[in-house]
Amino acid sequence: MDLMCDISNIKGVGEKTAKYLNKLGVYTFEDILLFFPRTYYLYPDIEPLDNNLVGKEVAIAAKINIPAKVIHGKKMDITSCTAYCCDNNIPLDLIWFRAPYIRSQLNVNETYIFVSKLLFEHNHFKMEMSKIFTVDQYISLKNGPQPVYHLTRGLNNNLVKKIINDVFKQINIDDNRLPEAVEENLQLMPYSRALFAYHFPKDYQQLIEARRRLAYEELFYFILNTRLSEKNTVSVENKLELKNDDCVEDIKSKLPFKLTVGQSEALEDIKNDIRSSYVTQRLIQGDVGSGKTMVAFLAMLDVISNGYQAVIMAPTEVLAVQHYETFIQYTKNFGLDYPVALFTGSMKASQRKKMQAIVDENDAVFIVGTHALISDKTNLRQVGLVVCDEQHRFGVAQREKLSKKGIDPHMIVMSATPIPRTLAMILYGNMHVSVIKELPANRLPVKTCVIKDNMRPNAYKFISDEISKGHQCYVICPLVEATETTEAENVIDFAKKLEDYFEGKYKIEYLHGKMKNDEKNDIMNSFADGKTDILVSTTVVEVGVNVVNATVIMIENANRFGLAQLHQLRGRVGRGADQSYCILMDSASDSKDSKRLEVMLKTNDGFEISREDLKLRGPGDFFGVRQSGEFSFKIADIYNDSQLLEIASKDVDELLKKDPDLNQSPMIKNALTRFIINQSYVL
Ligand code: ADP
Ligand code: MG
Repeated sequence: MDLMCDISNIKGVGEKTAKYLNKLGVYTFEDILLFFPRTYYLYPDIEPLDNNLVGKEVAIAAKINIPAKVIHGKKMDITSCTAYCCDNNIPLDLIWFRAPYIRSQLNVNETYIFVSKLLFEHNHFKMEMSKIFTVDQYISLKNGPQPVYHLTRGLNNNLVKKIINDVFKQINIDDNRLPEAVEENLQLMPYSRALFAYHFPKDYQQLIEARRRLAYEELFYFILNTRLSEKNTVSVENKLELKNDDCVEDIKSKLPFKLTVGQSEALEDIKNDIRSSYVTQRLIQGDVGSGKTMVAFLAMLDVISNGYQAVIMAPTEVLAVQHYETFIQYTKNFGLDYPVALFTGSMKASQRKKMQAIVDENDAVFIVGTHALISDKTNLRQVGLVVCDEQHRFGVAQREKLSKKGIDPHMIVMSATPIPRTLAMILYGNMHVSVIKELPANRLPVKTCVIKDNMRPNAYKFISDEISKGHQCYVICPLVEATETTEAENVIDFAKKLEDYFEGKYKIEYLHGKMKNDEKNDIMNSFADGKTDILVSTTVVEVGVNVVNATVIMIENANRFGLAQLHQLRGRVGRGADQSYCILMDSASDSKDSKRLEVMLKTNDGFEISREDLKLRGPGDFFGVRQSGEFSFKIADIYNDSQLLEIASKDVDELLKKDPDLNQSPMIKNALTRFIINQSYVL
């Protein structure tokens, strides 16, 4: 069987299970092999029974001296026994529900390892439903980090593990994926081994090696893709005829604020670009809240006021709709006579038709949308400039699509991801770079605190006070545990809890990725219009959203986020002149995680945060924490793997020097195609 086989070809995967897997984006063998663990579980060290372990998940080596008892209750069977810790002979009460078979598994006077949360009740140590291992079993388990997968209702971790294992048994994976010299130089593990080890590592060292191989490969193909797309756009003649920039200069003088130095410089850079001899690409890098949208608007206006169309694309529909509203507002306020058209995936055919008519009838028009905008249904012409907000990869693919339609606009990518210049050059290819270094002068730094659950009432009181001042609040909840609850259920439950807590005093809404787009838009609009007091949301608001009146963001389980992501989330507040606040709820039992959060207290600077983050993280901390949404790498991390990134960049250059069109490297060409296809799943 091959990688494209439907997942239902695995024994034990019936229609139902297949449907659950589909929900997670898994359809084929390949999909599930690339369905990487979200994190790894490490079995705890074996320790002597002790008071200070109470409340923690522990492993205790113990023996029983009389067999376990089973009581056949009305509701269920209860199995119990007392074991004695091998280290200090302290008794440990053990109890299992609905598991009478355990009685025969436990031999008297044999040592077992019991793993569970340690309780202390009625003066006794106790464990409920503990897992049981022989010493040998435990030692081998303890060496190997155990994969933990994202789940959905109907699936459990063991089932996913079993399916993946079965897939590995059924297929032969071609290891021919990278130039041989490259694999040798870096001593990379063969692909198939790395893939297997990434799911089922023998030990920690092997996991690190597997990760290195897969991360390298991901970077290699990412860069290869970028380089090849660049080739298609090099030296296209600039056909725009831009007479003057009077309109932009006029509006600049009418703005309610003065542009920052960074904003002005970025705008000047773009103005020069679009008047140069060739079609250009530029990256505008500016921290969250630095005012990139205004730069985009003015740059687009420069093009539009000279009789061309200009496009801005956003990675989410929520953000596209917001840009649309903003642009409508701007044109109205500044008395500009140019229409604005919106294209999103969820639009009805009739709305789309209306928008298309606007585009067809006007040479000079602002066009806003998500990637659906360039779908074959939308006709664009005379596009002089395309701005891609917050999504680099998006930009590259779109550029190609447009180019195929015979449109070669100037491109701007706007990003808040703090990347050192050398890395930016690799990741963004041959783009020019402008950096907006400062935030607008009216901003107060967001005040941040890290609190534990016992301070929750104070946090709620604080939120309540801010609302009574007329402000609004975001509450962000990530997935809590790898249980069977989905993100959606999580926000719905939380919103309900808050409703109850505040006794219906506030208008509370929730938002999550699985909602229909128009539903999302309605909720977001109502929040933006100030009609909702508290918005409980997953990270769908992470990127770009601008609601100036929101002054508090409370982030649940903040310890589960990467710092870069927390920085993005915190950037949702402090976007106007009001003092804003960020409350980080720390649910970590590990003090290392709590220490990481402290970085957020020290600085509001994205660069500084990513540097500190890197210093604090050990090699194990790169599993499962998404650092930068923009590049959507499954495994690689642009900060941690910056060295690999530089090597991959050189290796790609070398390959392309020898074989510019990959005609002599069919297997690489093939792997590249698969890479592009698989990457788009992430969107
Ligand atoms: P980002 O760079 O994160 O995309 P936005 O463009 O959304 O930031 O801008 C955030 C807020 O700052 C908006 O409300 C915008 O109107 C405001 N803003 C932009 N430029 C300035 C400026 N020079 N002075 C004051 N406020 C500004
Ligand atoms: Mg933005």
